[in-house]
Amino acid sequence: MIVTRFAPSPTGLLHLGHAYAAITAYESGDDFLLRIEDIDKGRSRDAFILRIFYDLKWLGLSWDEPTMRQSTRMGAYAEALVNLKARGLVYPCFCTRAEIAAEIARAGEAQHGPDGPLYPGTCRALSREEGLARMAAGESYALRLDVAQAAALTGPLTFTERGLRHAVEPLRFGDIVIARKDMPTSYHLAVVVDDAHQQVSLVTRGEDLLAATHIQRLLQALLKLPEPAYAHHPLVLDENGKKFSKRDGAVSLESLRDAGATPADIRARIGL
Ligand code: GLU
Repeated sequence: MIVTRFAPSPTGLLHLGHAYAAITAYESGDDFLLRIEDIDKGRSRDAFILRIFYDLKWLGLSWDEPTMRQSTRMGAYAEALVNLKARGLVYPCFCTRAEIAAEIARAGEAQHGPDGPLYPGTCRALSREEGLARMAAGESYALRLDVAQAAALTGPLTFTERGLRHAVEPLRFGDIVIARKDMPTSYHLAVVVDDAHQQVSLVTRGEDLLAATHIQRLLQALLKLPEPAYAHHPLVLDENGKKFSKRDGAVSLESLRDAGATPADIRARIGL
C-alpha cells in the first residue's frame, strides 16, 4: 500500500502550486495524509488551517483523520535530538546571521549549497567546555549537525527518485541547523521524524525540495527510520515563468473560487 502526504505550512492561503502538489499526492497513493507543518509559531495561523481544509475538500480530496499538526509533535523531535546528541553528532552554534556573513567575507569565499553559502563551521571548533560555559551564561544558540561526522558514520547512502537510485551527497548543505534558536526542531528533522511516524512510503512534493532529500536521507539513516521513495514534481509557474509563492501574493484558490472557478477549472489550469 502506497501512503502519500501533502504537508503545507499554514502561513498563507493555498494557491495553484499547492493544488498541484496536493492532487498529485492524492492520486499517487492508496492512502493520503494531510500534515500541517506549523512549527514556525511566528508565521503559522490557525485560521489558515481551516481554510486549507476547506480548499482541499472543495478540490474533492479527503484524507485520514485526525490530521497531524507538527506543533503537537515536539516530544518526538526532542527524542530524535537526544539520540543525535548522545552520539556526539550535534553541536551548539552561537553565531548570529551577521557573524556568519562576516566570517564568510573574511574567508574571501564560501562554498555554496542549495540554500546559499554554507555555514563556515565556526562553532564546530568550540571545545565542549566553552560551549557549555556559553550556554550556562544564557547565550542563545541553535544546534547544528556535524554532517561530515554523521556521513562517516552512515557510510554511502542512496535515495530512490521515480524508481532511479541516486547517490546521496550529504555535505551539500554543510552543517545544517537541526534545532533553531527559537524552536527545538527544524524543518528537516520534523519532516523525517513525521514521515516515518505516519508510515509515508512515497514522498511527492515540488522539485524545489529535491535537494533537501540528500540531507533528509542522512537523517533517516542516522535515526534508523525507514526509507520512503521520492517523486518530485515540476513546479507550477505563473505567466511570467516564476513559481507561485505566498510571498508574491499569488492568486489563492479561495479568490479563484470566489471569482467563479470550479475545481475542474483549477485542474485545467494546472494541467491535471
Ligand atoms: N512544509 C513544506 C512546504 O510547505 C513541505 C515539506 C515537504 O513536503 O517535505 O513547503
